[in-house]
Amino acid sequence: MRNETSWTLFDTFLMLMAIAAFGWGCFVLFVPESMFSHSSPAPRLQATQPPPDLAAIKEMVVATPAIAPQPSWTPLRLSSRWKWIVIHHSATFGGTPESIDKYHSTRMENGLAYHFIIGNGNGLPDGVVAVGRRWTEQLDGGHIDGGKIDHEAIGICLIGNFEEAAPTQMQIASLKGLIVFLQDHLSIKPGLIRGHRQMENEATLCPGRFLPIDVLVKTLRSGS
Ligand SMILES: [Zn+2]
Repeated sequence: MRNETSWTLFDTFLMLMAIAAFGWGCFVLFVPESMFSHSSPAPRLQATQPPPDLAAIKEMVVATPAIAPQPSWTPLRLSSRWKWIVIHHSATFGGTPESIDKYHSTRMENGLAYHFIIGNGNGLPDGVVAVGRRWTEQLDGGHIDGGKIDHEAIGICLIGNFEEAAPTQMQIASLKGLIVFLQDHLSIKPGLIRGHRQMENEATLCPGRFLPIDVLVKTLRSGS
C-alpha cells in the first residue's frame, strides 16, 4: 500500500537537493572569481598633495616679523657657554614636549633632547614656544653628538615634517623671536645658527628642505 506521507517527504527531500545543487552550480558559474580571491585589489590612483612652493615659503619667512621675547625664555641663571643654535624638525605631523620627552626618555638621560619646542597646532598650539627642562636648568642638549657640540649648542625643534610640508607662519615668527632673544643675551655668531643637516658629520635631512634656515638667519629682524 502506498504510503502518501513517506512519498511526500521523499519528494520534498529530492526537490530540496535538486534546488541546492542547481543553486551551487549557478553560484560557481556566475559569481566572479574575485569574491574568492584574497589578493589585494589593483592599486588605485590617489590624489596627491602638491609639494609646497619653496619660493613662496622664502617670501613668507622674509616678511614675517619676530615675536617679542617671553618671560619663560629667561632661565634663573643663564650659562655663557652657548655658542651654537641648531634647528631641528620633529619629522612628524604633530607632537608635544611630553610626547617627545617620553620617546627620548627611553634613549637618553634627561629626556627631551631639545631646549625648546615650537608647536604647529597639532598637539602643541601653533607658534607656542615650550621651554624644556634642559633650558630652565641649563643642561647640555642631546640633539647632536652627545659630546662637545651638545655642551655648547642650544637645540630648537619645530613640530612638523618640513621635507614634506611647510612650517606655519606662526612657527617662523616664534623661531625668529627666540633666536633674536638668544642672540641678544649670548654671543652667538650668525654662522653658528644652523639647521641640523648643516652640522658636520650629521647624515640627516633635518630640518627639511621647506625650512630655509639661510633665509631665516639673514632676515631675523626683518618683516612688516
Ligand atoms: Zn635634527
